[in-house]
Amino acid sequence: MKTILAARRQFASDNNAGICPEAWRALDEANQGHARGYGDDLWTEKAADLIREIFQTDCEVFFVFNGTAANSLALASLCQSYHSILCHEIAHVETDECGAPEFFSNGTKVLLLTGENGKIDPAGIERMVKRRTDIHFPKPRVISVTQATEVGMVYSIDELKAIGEAAKEFGLKLHMDGARFANAVASLQVAPSEITWKAGVDVLCFGGTKNGTHVGEAVVFFNRALANEFDYRCKQAGQLASKMRFLSAPWVGMLQDGAWLSHARHANAMAEELFDQLKALPGIRILFPRQANAVFAELPEHVIAGLRDRGWMFYTFIGKGGCRFMCSWDTTKEDINAFVADLKSFLPTPFPKTS
Ligand SMILES: *Cc1c(COP(=O)(O)O)cnc(C)c1O
Repeated sequence: MKTILAARRQFASDNNAGICPEAWRALDEANQGHARGYGDDLWTEKAADLIREIFQTDCEVFFVFNGTAANSLALASLCQSYHSILCHEIAHVETDECGAPEFFSNGTKVLLLTGENGKIDPAGIERMVKRRTDIHFPKPRVISVTQATEVGMVYSIDELKAIGEAAKEFGLKLHMDGARFANAVASLQVAPSEITWKAGVDVLCFGGTKNGTHVGEAVVFFNRALANEFDYRCKQAGQLASKMRFLSAPWVGMLQDGAWLSHARHANAMAEELFDQLKALPGIRILFPRQANAVFAELPEHVIAGLRDRGWMFYTFIGKGGCRFMCSWDTTKEDINAFVADLKSFLPTPFPKTS
């Protein structure tokens, strides 16, 4: 068999990173002896308790395998099939989930809003809700926001409150796709409650994978009534893990001593470093301010090709286009220096050689 060599760290996605030590240790501990299946174990209880502690409220918590399932099942639990979900036009639920929210809700329509930096403009909510109020059009029922957004920006407390108020005014539920929730909390330096239930969020899909666990996202219902029979929904969708402790234990590892925040803070800081190095270079246009762990930039075609030639991996189709560089819990300054050194080698030198 061919040996699979350790590959170098990349900037393609924070899900390219491995498992952080805290999650790994918890997995190892959870691997001692036997435990009951399907979430009826002490690890799952502890993980849910820690989430309740962090959010300072008695929320209902479920663990599923990935973000698409978390979002789709959470959204499905908020709507009937004749309802609609309002989200940003570049929201992951619209662009990257293969129609799963519509599928799991049996046909709920996703309606698209616009706004700067991947954030919903609250005025657009009213426009969309009032555009059609007749029986021939699916009735708006949910707003979905992404925190941090798909272009690495972060909704402030006030921005979320404004959306929460619009939701209340128009009788809508509020869902938050928090695949990078930890990066948003680290960026804003706020209590997690401030940007969730206190701002009117009913359900949060709290991401673990991109922040250092091996797999698994938490679906957190602040509005407990909405969690009614969610366990059945998970089971039917194939999202009830029989060895549930291996989804929940890493959350204990991440949450009990604050690793979830220190890893997010680190990823954000590395993105800041990359941002600072890139913005100083000629011919490179930064596309968004840096707030979480992403940097978006426009690079000349030959530079993109050259970097790819040297084995660097990154996406060019996410969000609004341009190159996306994601930093992870394990990104190092050396990774950034190596990447930027390669990038610089494709740019014109300030002092052209004379022969
Ligand atoms: C990665 C991501 C998800 C989850 O994706 P899965 O691949 O299904 O785990 C959800 N929302 C956003 C914004 C993401 O970046």
